[in-house]
Amino acid sequence: MKNTSPTWTREAAQAVYDLPLMDLLFRAQTVHRENFDPNKIQTSKLLSIKTGGCAEDCSYCSQSARNGSKLSASKLIEVQRVLTEARKAKDGGATRFCMGAAWREPKDRDMDALVAMVEGVRELGMETCMTLGMLDDNQVFRLRDAGLDYYNHNIDTSERYYPEVITTRTFADRIDTMNRVQDAGIKVCSGGILGMGEEVGDRLDMLVTLANMGPAPESVPINMLMPQEDTPLADAKPIDPIEFVRVIATARIMMPKSYVRLSAGRSDMTDEHQAMCFFAGANSIFVGETLLTAENPEEDTDSILFAKLGLEAETVAGQSCAEAAE
Ligand code: SF4
Repeated sequence: MKNTSPTWTREAAQAVYDLPLMDLLFRAQTVHRENFDPNKIQTSKLLSIKTGGCAEDCSYCSQSARNGSKLSASKLIEVQRVLTEARKAKDGGATRFCMGAAWREPKDRDMDALVAMVEGVRELGMETCMTLGMLDDNQVFRLRDAGLDYYNHNIDTSERYYPEVITTRTFADRIDTMNRVQDAGIKVCSGGILGMGEEVGDRLDMLVTLANMGPAPESVPINMLMPQEDTPLADAKPIDPIEFVRVIATARIMMPKSYVRLSAGRSDMTDEHQAMCFFAGANSIFVGETLLTAENPEEDTDSILFAKLGLEAETVAGQSCAEAAE
């Protein structure tokens, strides 16, 4: 499928980002309402299926073996355990089940188990998402044939800033896997992390890369760095909350049909900050107490926030306004 959306430039993205905040929010909310029910939030549950001991050196990650992490490496967990957790997530209202492994790339010997996880979760009637690192063509085809809906592969930041954050792979490696996944017909989930010392221009360049993919990722997680002990970014300066909201609103305007996920960092945000992000066009969250290894608000806290804001969890997986009207 070729990209039919307008091509974004950094200048155009910057012009949107720099709008007076009220104009930016109004425009983002208008775009949001044209494409989604403004009071529905998609909820996903994330399970770590293989934790720690990762060969990559992502500066923000406590699972990297290179970051002197105290986290011990686990093996790939049993398929049955994954399905038990998926059933619980479904009973809790999640429509998508995301499975994350701390790998540079999966080994071929792991593929049978990964395929069984995808097939099993789909049989429960949930959307499936995996994040496993780099994939070759054969691995992509096996996951696609098993029915994988989404593949998460974050680009994290701009191409310029990428080597400051990760040195064991390149930005181009990342794009290669994303293209392979997209060409095979699997939806892409890709976004980044704000607050790693990057400039505003890096955040916008990241959005430009995503918006100009053919097509833009169906799911765009925007994370606020939660500095992890023992990582090179343990002392990173927190991002200003309004700057964070501006990125969410800009992402919504640049990628009108994508789910923009308010991802890691929510446990450090006030209700007001989250509410502004939802108004700016964020319409997806992770539920549950942990995100791989980082803290996340408990489900009760989310239910209270949803009630205060009159938000509801989306009950049908992947239902935008356009799809609902068909
Ligand atoms: S972010 Fe993923 S790839 Fe990077 S070190 Fe952590 S687990 Fe490994």
